[in-house]
Amino acid sequence: MVTLHADEAAARSDANVDFDAIIIGAGVAGLYQLYRLRELGLRVQVFETGSSLGGTWYWNRYPGARFDSESWTYGYSFSKELLEEWNWDEHFSAQPHTEQYLNYVADKFDLRRNIQFNSRVISAHWHEAERHWDVELESGEHHTARFLVTAVGVLSAAVMPNIPGMESFTGISCHTHRWPKEDINVVGKRVGIIGTGATAVQTIQTIAKSVGHLTIFQRTPNWCFPLNNSKISSEEMADIKARYPEILARCLETPSCYVHGPDPRKAVEVTADEREAFWEKLYRTPGFGQWQGNFSDVLIDREANKLASEFAARKIRERVKDPAVAEKLIPKNHGFGTRRIPLETGYYEVYNQSNVELVDINETPIERITEKGIQTSDLEREFDVIIYATGFDSITGAFERIDIRGVNGVKLKEEWKNGPETYLGVFASGFPNMLMAMGPHGGLSNYTRTAEYGVEWITDVIKFAVERDLTRIDATPSAVAEWTNHVDELGQGLLMNEVGSWMTGVNRNVEGKQAPRIMRYSGGHPAYRAHCDAVAAEGYTNLAMS
Ligand code: NAP
Repeated sequence: MVTLHADEAAARSDANVDFDAIIIGAGVAGLYQLYRLRELGLRVQVFETGSSLGGTWYWNRYPGARFDSESWTYGYSFSKELLEEWNWDEHFSAQPHTEQYLNYVADKFDLRRNIQFNSRVISAHWHEAERHWDVELESGEHHTARFLVTAVGVLSAAVMPNIPGMESFTGISCHTHRWPKEDINVVGKRVGIIGTGATAVQTIQTIAKSVGHLTIFQRTPNWCFPLNNSKISSEEMADIKARYPEILARCLETPSCYVHGPDPRKAVEVTADEREAFWEKLYRTPGFGQWQGNFSDVLIDREANKLASEFAARKIRERVKDPAVAEKLIPKNHGFGTRRIPLETGYYEVYNQSNVELVDINETPIERITEKGIQTSDLEREFDVIIYATGFDSITGAFERIDIRGVNGVKLKEEWKNGPETYLGVFASGFPNMLMAMGPHGGLSNYTRTAEYGVEWITDVIKFAVERDLTRIDATPSAVAEWTNHVDELGQGLLMNEVGSWMTGVNRNVEGKQAPRIMRYSGGHPAYRAHCDAVAAEGYTNLAMS
């Protein structure tokens, strides 16, 4: 990366705008975007809703929140010094340590001076004559910038369910995403939790150790697999540091940028013994081996997927003592791996505790939240604490919570009402100079690995424009149509895209988000990078620049 000389950059800075670039969000992508754009010599400002940085790792401080990606594949790779200095304490780091890491990064690279906290962006409007974005904060403040980079996250728009009476509950209630810094004391308490996604699984297995009584309200069980986490000794950390080049290279060659990549064999072609032995091995493998490192046909071929589901169901039956409870915990409406698998540590054993109850709300639906607890069709249960682990309006939700308007005041939310349409997941046609870091239909996988690439690509295109005094970049409608079709085609035939989950943009609590859509690029990150690299090498000919 070539840095513009400071004088040269200053000469190009436009006095008519407050900033050369505004970044929305100080999470993993936003922090790195700030670092890179500042390195170009641009005047950059980040606006962040939270009172501190970290995005996902700032907000999600619910009990047991931790990585499901290997810690040492999640850190930034742009600085050798940083890789050398930082010691991960566990193979799957817990939220407090990860938050500490991101703060360490911010301090090391002096990022805070360009971040304004407690500053929710409520609107961003493009002004054609001035060729700038006008960004409005909740406080009423306005700021203008030539470029707008959205680093708003993929799972940041938390959603509460629509259950009558929620406001009447007199105990403590909280969405996991809004867990307070001062914590909620659940020790000895009667706790009810709604949801059984990855967040709920981590919460449940953690609080079950200390609550008085726990009731889990489940609508859809998920296929959960062991995380197999462990501490990292200083000798092991030294070894990881020595192997960083190899580890990072490995992440770049797998489809989702984990160390786990698919096994070329097919489940339906190997013998039953071979299959079983492989799956038993994966069951003991830390992290996403079972999901990302499985036989190559498991997420495509219905028969292979059925076999993998049967293996997973057997594991649940082995671990849960009461057969009726085990059956409730086995997914029936989707096959193994077709939703993001939660990784767990003793999750299924929680259901063997005498103070834990599983309520299948398909049998006894929740009717309302009462002053004292939760009323299902059969009875009212009283709680001291209700936890809503009810997930997010994923991928496009965070965009839709900002009033983003492009050329002629066209609303992004309106443009995307039938699903997102982007060029490379970075541009939306008619929204000039808006670049999406980790936008829909882009290269979303192991987050930091893929965000780093996305941010670098965005930095290069901005640099290209700035060096040529180009003040307007937009994707052509045909480029957007072509990319959207390409992403749709790639997504056909993947079992995952048939199932409702955050990965297909489904949230039953949000109007218009009931049916699965293709929301993610599914050609694998190496192919995504090859495509984006080629676009850059050809001089961004699919972009209209002036
Ligand atoms: P989620 O997977 O969308 O789960 C939300 C849960 O709430 C689901 O069980 C859902 O049931 C339930 N729910 C929603 N509304 C409900 C209602 N009205 N009544 C009853 N149940 C309701 O959300 P999440 O668990 O927060 O996880 C989202 C993603 O965040 C994960 O898949 C993962 O990618 C990421 N995450 C990562 C980590 C990590 O890396 N360690 C940890 C946690 C989360 P239905 O399934 O029936 O809709």
